[in-house]
Amino acid sequence: MAFEGLTARLQNVFGKLRGKGKVSEEDVNDAMREVRLALLEADVNFKVVKQFITKVKEKAVGKEVMDSFTPGMVIIDIVNKELTELMGGSQSKLAKANKPPTVIMMVGLQGAGKTTTSGKLAKLLQKQNAKPLLVAADIYRPAAIKQLQVLGEQIKAPVFTLGDQTSPVEIAKQGLQHAKDNNHDYVIIDTAGRLHVDEELMAELHQIHSHVNPDEVLLVVDAMTGQDAVNVAEHFNTQLSLSGVVLTKLDGDTRGGAALSVKAVTGCPIKFITLGEKLDALEPFHPERMSSRILG
Ligand code: GDP
Repeated sequence: MAFEGLTARLQNVFGKLRGKGKVSEEDVNDAMREVRLALLEADVNFKVVKQFITKVKEKAVGKEVMDSFTPGMVIIDIVNKELTELMGGSQSKLAKANKPPTVIMMVGLQGAGKTTTSGKLAKLLQKQNAKPLLVAADIYRPAAIKQLQVLGEQIKAPVFTLGDQTSPVEIAKQGLQHAKDNNHDYVIIDTAGRLHVDEELMAELHQIHSHVNPDEVLLVVDAMTGQDAVNVAEHFNTQLSLSGVVLTKLDGDTRGGAALSVKAVTGCPIKFITLGEKLDALEPFHPERMSSRILG
């Protein structure tokens, strides 16, 4: 499970603090040194770690904290609040168009989990009584269209496809029209990914973007790839202006750095996380819950 190492280390640091009736500035400094190492080891971006530690120290070293009856607990509370802030503060909800359909463009590198996440998102929207349409605009990855169709069948959501001989821009355009004609309130466009970010991919995504004018551009990134996930997010964001990130594979053995760095580095909120291959393994991202989970 994600964050195991980080949680164990933080619990160790805070266990020591909690046991103290009185906390000195040196105790705080020692604890923060250990927190810093724990975050770096969890693959959190080093600039993010530096800012985080500075902020926590500013708040934790004051007389009010030191003189409180339970200084250790107060400091843990400060860390909890700052971790929550780091991940965006409060939940960042999916946008909704004033006039349906709400258009969601799914982007990301191949293998990140874009296609399965499209299916999962459709299922989540169905649970909220919405009527999503899935659009298969990844014509390059062999079997991507079929994969989306299979997912669609499983959740009984229609999948719009024009095969792999029509341009993705045309598929997206016609898919949107189909959604309008058939009263769908959400359109989820599964676009192509590549193994690396490249200009051709970006050009195609730009084209689709300008034709369908999405309400959401969600980047799907694999949490297992750590700092790479953050770099990919930064790159996509400068090119496409993302509205949110979906962090996948948090059920795996990820150290968690991406979850803690994405918002701070890109300014882009994590909107969803996925925790498994099953179709209901998608959850809205709650920074405060994630912070509590990390602190154990
Ligand atoms: P795409 O190339 O980005 O469309 O990636 P896919 O949607 O095909 O996913 C790639 C692989 O990752 C598939 O085997 C998925 O089942 C798997 N996958 C996606 N999300 C998760 C997740 O949250 N947890 C785990 N364990 N596997 C996932």
